[in-house]
Amino acid sequence: MNGSPSRVAIVGASVASAMLIERSLELGFSGEFVVIDSDPNAPYDRPPLSKQFLLGTGPVERADWWPESVTIINAKAIGLVTAQRTVLLDRLGEIQADAVVIATGAGSIRLPNEPAGVLSLRTAEDALAIRAAVDAGAKSAVIIGAGTIGSELASTLAQRGLRVTVVDLAQKPMQRFFSGHLGEEATAWMHQAGVVTHLGVAVESISRNAENWTVRVSGEDLQADLVISAVGARPNTEWLSYSGLDIANGIRCNAHGKAFLANGDVAEEIYAIGDVSSRQAEDGSFSRFESWTQAQRHGAALAEYFAGFESTELEQAPYGWTEQFGRMIQVHGTLPPQGELVQVYAADDRNAALYRVGPSDEDPAWIGVNAPRHFSRASMGLSLLS
Ligand SMILES: Cc1cc2nc3c(=O)[nH]c(=O)nc-3n(C[C@H](O)[C@H](O)[C@H](O)COP(=O)(O)OP(=O)(O)OC[C@H]3O[C@@H](n4cnc5c(N)ncnc54)[C@H](O)[C@@H]3O)c2cc1C
Repeated sequence: MNGSPSRVAIVGASVASAMLIERSLELGFSGEFVVIDSDPNAPYDRPPLSKQFLLGTGPVERADWWPESVTIINAKAIGLVTAQRTVLLDRLGEIQADAVVIATGAGSIRLPNEPAGVLSLRTAEDALAIRAAVDAGAKSAVIIGAGTIGSELASTLAQRGLRVTVVDLAQKPMQRFFSGHLGEEATAWMHQAGVVTHLGVAVESISRNAENWTVRVSGEDLQADLVISAVGARPNTEWLSYSGLDIANGIRCNAHGKAFLANGDVAEEIYAIGDVSSRQAEDGSFSRFESWTQAQRHGAALAEYFAGFESTELEQAPYGWTEQFGRMIQVHGTLPPQGELVQVYAADDRNAALYRVGPSDEDPAWIGVNAPRHFSRASMGLSLLS
């Protein structure tokens, strides 16, 4: 046994912590979980917020994967007394435990000097605000950022009939998600849906008059009823500023999720999982990966560590997905930016394709577009279907 803690405080009620609890209960954990979240709507699933939710009319659904036996305290964590494993709350005092798990995810990055009224998307409340603006009659939107969330928003708002313009400093949509691959294809998906792109340009200013918004890029004024900022997310670690933890870019932690202090020592019984964590690889480097599946794996792996055995959850290759412009896009593995991209399957009638990235004899990475069966065989190392 690693010495399973009997009282565990978890900050953040979302997929990473849900999986930690569920897997712990499956493994016979008999202690107590105390879960804190500042969002009154938590727990809910974020991926639908940029997709089905904006097309629908219903409320934000409570996540069906949350273990109902565990209640959530609605409070904001404002500090951590690391040595005493005590979480300080904005109300209701403090919570002391044998172990503290930090699962606070990430929050939207806002542009410098962004005027009030520019929307963004990370929470249920953000999604409700975007949907309310569209329901109130917005006819056009400028989306700043062509990453996965900006692209998904462009797809959904175009589907709702808005004139959508996407602006990004990067030359290609989803440059990070695809590691620079498939830029022409992703741009074409936008254009086919009527989305106008301004790529490789910086936003010079954002202003608003009584009528509408103006976003100035490269001397051109783009006018719209809505401006949505989708320029990325940063780990929610501000509340840990005085904790002594290493929070350079997310909470640095080892392969089990044990958090490091800024002096390089491991903090006793403090763990980080999900989007907020920055994991150490075998070569000593740290990386932070925002992905629903990866967050779940972190939770499961920590439950297994608490139960006393070496988890294999994190040995799996990274997996990410996005849905946009009528396409289900899946990525398996780490896409090498310089790796050769080879299309190994295509079905034009379904806009489907499977791409291998990197040499075929060295455990390649894969990108699937509307090709789930081919993608899953390829990522399992099986021969491809014809
Ligand atoms: C619009 C949108 C679409 C997405 N689509 C996809 C997709 O298609 N595919 C995919 O793989 N991933 C997608 N993601 C990313 C995915 O949702 C995240 O990777 C995942 O939710 C991370 O889970 P988590 O448990 O680490 O943290 P989060 O889901 O970020 O939850 C963190 C929780 O911590 C709480 N919290 C934060 N700070 C405090 C504090 N100080 N005190 C108390 N509580 C606090 C927050 O309120 C929140 O409930 C999407 C994300 C968004 C926003």
